[in-house]
Amino acid sequence: MMNYKKLQRAEFLKMTGGLVFLMLSNKWSFAQSSLSSDLVSSAQKRQEYTIALLKKLVTDIGPRPSGSKAFAKAAKIVLKEMQRSLPQVNFDRYEFDDWGPINSSSLIVGAQHIEAIPQKRGFGTPANGVSGVFAKIGSAYAITDEQNGQILAYFSVNQYGRAIAGSGSGNLDKSVPVFGIGKQDVLLLDRSAKNKLSASIKSEYKPVHKAPGINVIGRIPGKTKKEILIIAHLDTIFNTPGANDNAASVIVMLMLAHAASGREHNHTLTFVASDSEEYVYEGAHHYAAGRIADNTMNDIRYVLNFDSLTYGPNLWINSKDQGVKDMIRDIHKDLNIESTPIYGENDGFVMDSLPFKPSGAIALHANSRGYDEKTLPVYHRPDDTADKVPLDCVEISFQVFDEFIKRADRT
Ligand SMILES: [Zn+2]
Repeated sequence: MMNYKKLQRAEFLKMTGGLVFLMLSNKWSFAQSSLSSDLVSSAQKRQEYTIALLKKLVTDIGPRPSGSKAFAKAAKIVLKEMQRSLPQVNFDRYEFDDWGPINSSSLIVGAQHIEAIPQKRGFGTPANGVSGVFAKIGSAYAITDEQNGQILAYFSVNQYGRAIAGSGSGNLDKSVPVFGIGKQDVLLLDRSAKNKLSASIKSEYKPVHKAPGINVIGRIPGKTKKEILIIAHLDTIFNTPGANDNAASVIVMLMLAHAASGREHNHTLTFVASDSEEYVYEGAHHYAAGRIADNTMNDIRYVLNFDSLTYGPNLWINSKDQGVKDMIRDIHKDLNIESTPIYGENDGFVMDSLPFKPSGAIALHANSRGYDEKTLPVYHRPDDTADKVPLDCVEISFQVFDEFIKRADRT
């Protein structure tokens, strides 16, 4: 296919000598876009590209929480990658209030030390920690005040494996510190709660301050203003290098951009490596607000949100549009992709794609499943490292969505 394309282009250039000058005088030349689409023109090249970029973004940088220097470094790398093939690339900056844990102890129940991870943007304990009686509350746990039963610290359980940062706190008083604990400790904790053992924990928080948010935006203008927008978050939780969540999906998006740069499209293509997804989607909200302000939100006809495409070979597709679901199914069949997409219940406007709902676009949110035993336990964990990314899932996602862009472009 590449040879055919190259031939076509060579013929084209030969026949239109006059145009060549025009193209070369443009910052973004055909020659440049042809080179960059070559970057990902075979499965072998895509694998090499993926491994190289996983090393840069995940292994070399590590956790990339929003607002950190590490995130800014990663954003610069993604900007450079986009500049290899896209004619319009820029940072979309904003500021946000940041706070979070700076140090914390494990949970001590009786004499046992149990791994517990505080909640980002939650509440810390007093400087000397909290202690009280260990108790079970529904499927969660708490340290409660010995005198009045008041909840002093709350513990959510990660159903996939070891402890991840605490999340959710039900109907608790909002100032209660929340921690995450692992499912392997549940039996021990049940016993401890039954025996009303004493427990303690400590977590200090750094104060609110203005932190920089940076989305990276790349665009390929099409023949029309009608637009296909793809978004994948580049940030991570503070304690994970986030290879599967979500560097690998960002890499899929970059490869789609490189591939698309060698073609002409009716639709304008926009690629967003978003920031602050892990903190209430502030990056996506900021970029979407800009699109409303400059009156271009309504140009968007498709929104694709890639989040964790590499948990297994089966893409987990959420959309309320039946045409999109059929298209994904047909693509698997037509390209002989030996995996089975799963269809979820939400309308595709969730998390980072939610702020684009006012566009009235067709939305698709993609996650994945299939290697659950191997991949899900590393979710939001320090061991979500580059070597945990199943490369076949990167390739499947690339193939499916490269074809998806081509087909959606014809609609
Ligand atoms: Zn994610």
